Amino acid sequence: MTNREKYRFDDFTLDNYRRLVALALEKGFEFISYTDEFVQERKDILWRHDVEFEPDIALKMAEIESSLGAKATYFFQIHCPYYNIFDPHYTEVFNKIKSLGHFVGLHFDSHYYGIENESQLNEYIQLDKEYFERVLKVKIDTFSFHNTTPFTQSCLEPMYGGLINVYSSHFKNNFNYCGDSLGYWRFDRLEDVLNNESVQHLQVLTHDANWTEEVMSPRARVHQFVYDRAERLYNQQVNGLINKGLLCPREKQN
Ligand SMILES: [Zn+2]
Repeated sequence: MTNREKYRFDDFTLDNYRRLVALALEKGFEFISYTDEFVQERKDILWRHDVEFEPDIALKMAEIESSLGAKATYFFQIHCPYYNIFDPHYTEVFNKIKSLGHFVGLHFDSHYYGIENESQLNEYIQLDKEYFERVLKVKIDTFSFHNTTPFTQSCLEPMYGGLINVYSSHFKNNFNYCGDSLGYWRFDRLEDVLNNESVQHLQVLTHDANWTEEVMSPRARVHQFVYDRAERLYNQQVNGLINKGLLCPREKQN
């Protein structure tokens, strides 16, 4: 068996993403938010994105969902080494995702603060929440942990720092889970879970840079987003100078 087959590279294209969201709708899952009341009899799905690498790709996914009539929750970091949500380009992406009708929350990084107990956790989630809300001019209700630790995995209360915890006992106990965390299905394949008639409540976790236009290995997908970003920034700078007639003549010759 090739790696392409074993790790199901073909699953992770944006075309297949569209097919999976459509399949969830076809199977009767109602797309709900973390603030919705739990209804035992309802067949529902909490479709979550932890935005880790490239919000531009998250926007493509948000457009696919909204074109099909599905709503997801997008969790953004504010201490991310890969993107800065306060960069005007990404703030615009954030606002576009929100304007498509999706929910937004905080993807909280406990490592940044070296958090070791619940009192620090409450304090720093509150701090990030306030900054996030004030700068991005939005009210948020929910957070998810970035890169969980044994300590954060033990934090099972419904709320911390004024935000709903998506890793609480409630969601763990009542919802099946399926995620693409490493760029492949570590446990169950999403398509199989969606087709499993016994699954009534489901939490799905996806990550932006795990999905590309073409079939690629997980590593190639990371490479792709890094180089697409570099090209965008290069063009932004150089075309900006060309448009203003300010590009150095010697560079023009080269
Ligand atoms: Zn994360």
